[in-house]
This record gives sequence, structure tokens and C-alpha cells, in this order.
Amino acid sequence: MSRAHVQLTRKGELAARSRHPWIFSGAIARVSGDPEPGAEVDVLDARGRFLGRGLFNPHSQIRVRLYTTVDEPLDAAFFTERIGTAVALRRDALGLDDVAGACRLVFSEGDGLSGLTVDRYGRQLVVQLTGLGIGERLDGMLSALEDLLEPEGIMLRTEKGMAEEEGLHIQDGPLRGHPPENSIEIVEGALRFSVDLRTGQKTGFYLDQRVNRVRAAAYARDRCVADVCSYSGGFSIATAAAGAARVTAVDSSASALALVRENAERNGVGALVEPVRANAFEWLGAQAEAGRTFDMVVLDPPRFARSQRGVKSALRAYERLNALAIACIAPGGVLITFSCSGRVSEADFQGAVARAATQSGRDVRILERLSQAPDHPVATSCPQSAYLKGFICSVA
Ligand code: SAH
Repeated sequence: MSRAHVQLTRKGELAARSRHPWIFSGAIARVSGDPEPGAEVDVLDARGRFLGRGLFNPHSQIRVRLYTTVDEPLDAAFFTERIGTAVALRRDALGLDDVAGACRLVFSEGDGLSGLTVDRYGRQLVVQLTGLGIGERLDGMLSALEDLLEPEGIMLRTEKGMAEEEGLHIQDGPLRGHPPENSIEIVEGALRFSVDLRTGQKTGFYLDQRVNRVRAAAYARDRCVADVCSYSGGFSIATAAAGAARVTAVDSSASALALVRENAERNGVGALVEPVRANAFEWLGAQAEAGRTFDMVVLDPPRFARSQRGVKSALRAYERLNALAIACIAPGGVLITFSCSGRVSEADFQGAVARAATQSGRDVRILERLSQAPDHPVATSCPQSAYLKGFICSVA
């Protein structure tokens, strides 16, 4: 039986030629062989020559996820090998094998496994799916993870709206073994955090900020810190433990702030950290109006741009939020500002921060450029996998 194939348009083949793993419907000239949702397909260029092999999904904007440019079957052995390579990178090159620690074991496009993310929290694993074809092949990959890591449990968490977008029929919950029924504790450096794998944001914790928490801590001594969009207090706890004078953690979510309190106490800095429930824009505006200043503001808002169309308005929101933050930073203070929108480039984000500085009439200098932690590798073939960017700035 010959494999179904997807032939690209002349323009459409360009992205696939640079090994970009996403093939959008607009890049496709014709589909032959009537592939089922999730089926393996050959991807051909406009002249009919083999470009690679991927998994087909007629329900998704991403019509084919490309996994290889070699003529090889996308079978259980193929995915098992990719899982093994991803796990080995964290263990051997990154040294992220502390059993009490947490890390991202598989980062979708960053590990050649578009549509699959796996996080390790101690001896528990959390899987996130964003692709139908890889989701259908999950069983083999779970077995590979069990063989390699002997986890206590594996559970599934799905981002809101994702199942509908991809036509996935899945339900969050236990997949293998015994996932925890309550919060668990993870260790990061000298800090401890409580993480709820069932109800927490993302898969429970912002592992992508691990290295940046250490960088932020380096500037924190004796400073009054505002950690804006704090979630469970990653930056609050790291800066408080590093000698900040006091920390205000601001988030719109009450459950996030309950975690901030718990985590502050867990690390012996309960008296230094004050959780405040508020909208970031309104709260920052109110501080400036009341003449209250901070020596350090951390800004880590949620993803503002969800699609290419949303980029312009996202940049305006980043500009406004950063201008509000700069207005309440004392002279000589520090702004640590992030964008986690994959569609917003670092250059565009820097432009938004520059406009915010101009607006505020302050001199802002970038001291450090930050990115996602190395267990979230960036595939150069997929620029969108470089989603987290940040700057540590001095504000005159
Ligand atoms: N800095 C955190 C991660 C932040 S994620 C860490 O290192 O763990 C973004 C957070 O922003 C979420 O907790 C979300 O509840 C919060 N949030 C979203 N919109 C907000 C708003 N308008 N005002 C304040 N917080 C907001």
C-alpha cells in the first residue's frame, strides 16, 4: 500500500524546506490517498519530490506536523528514540536529574516531538498534548518514559481550548501509575515550592523561568520588590530568600496568591512577602498615582498574542504595562520584564519596552537578556519555539 501524500505549493514548500515542523493548510496544493486524521503522510514539494514525513490532521490549522526529512517510518521505535534523546539531554548535558527537582523532559518542537510536552516533578510526570497524530501514538511513548524513568505516576493536562482546536478526544487525569492526589513539593536550588499538578497553571509550575529566578535574585538584596503576575511566587520567593527588603506579589488569581503565601512560609520568608490580588495594569497605575515606588519590578504577564493577528495589540499591551511599571520604579531601580508570546520576537518586544521608556521620560538600559531555561530548547527551524524573552534593565 502506498502512503498517502500531501503536495505543497511552490511558496508553501519553503517553510518545509527549512524543516519547519508546521505545515499549514494554505501551503498545501493537494492531498492524495485520503489519509485518516492522525495518519502518516509523505510531504512532497511542488514538483512531487519527497521532502519529509509527518502526521496529518484535517481538523487543525497545522494540517501536517513534520517529524523527519528522512524516508523512515513514524512508528513506535521512531518516537521511542526521540523520547530517549530528549531524556538523555536533560540528564547528561543539563544535569537536571535531581530526583526532588523538576524539569521539562520533552518540549514539543524543541525536541522534534511537535505536539507533545512532558514535565517531570520529582517522580511524577505530566503530559500535555497539542497534536492529534502524536496523541494517538502516546501509549508507546508513555511506555518509553516508564522504562527510562520509572515514574510513580503519569497524568494528562490539556491547555484550555486545545482539544477542540486539534479534534482531540482526551480527558485530563491519570494515564499511568499513581499520580498524586494532593499538592507535592519540588526543590529548585535551595528553594522549595508546592505544586498542584491537577489544578495548577500550565502543568503546575513555570519551569521555563528557573534560570531567570536565579538571575533576578542576584539583583534583589535590600530592594523593595514588586512581583507583578506572580502566579505561585517563583520570583517572589527567589528574591525574598536572596535578601530583598520586602516583596509584594501581585496576581489576579486568588488561588495563585494562596500558593504564594504557602510557598513563602515553606521557605521561611512569610513575613517578607505580601500577596495582593489585583489587576496588574490597575495596581501599577495606582502605585504611581499614590507616589509609591519600588526598587525592582518583575513583570511576567500571561501570553498576550495567541496568533499572528494578535501581535500588534499584544505589543501595545506590553508597551502600556511596561510604561506603568517604569513609572513606579525608583531612580537606579531594576525592571525585569518578560514576554512569553511565541509570535512576538525579541526585537519587537525590545521595541515595546523602548517606547515605554520614551513615554515615561526615563533612561532604560538592558543589562541582561533572558530566555527560557535550557530544558526548553529552541529549534532553529521553528522560531516560534523561542517563546520566552526577557530583559533585566536598569532604570535611571
Ligand atoms: N511569574 C510567574 C508566572 C506568571 S504567569 C512564575 O514565575 O511562576 C502569569 C500570571 O499572571 C498568572 O498567574 C495569571 O493569574 C496572572 N494574570 C493574568 N492576567 C493578569 C492581570 N490582568 N493582572 C494580574 N495578574 C494577571
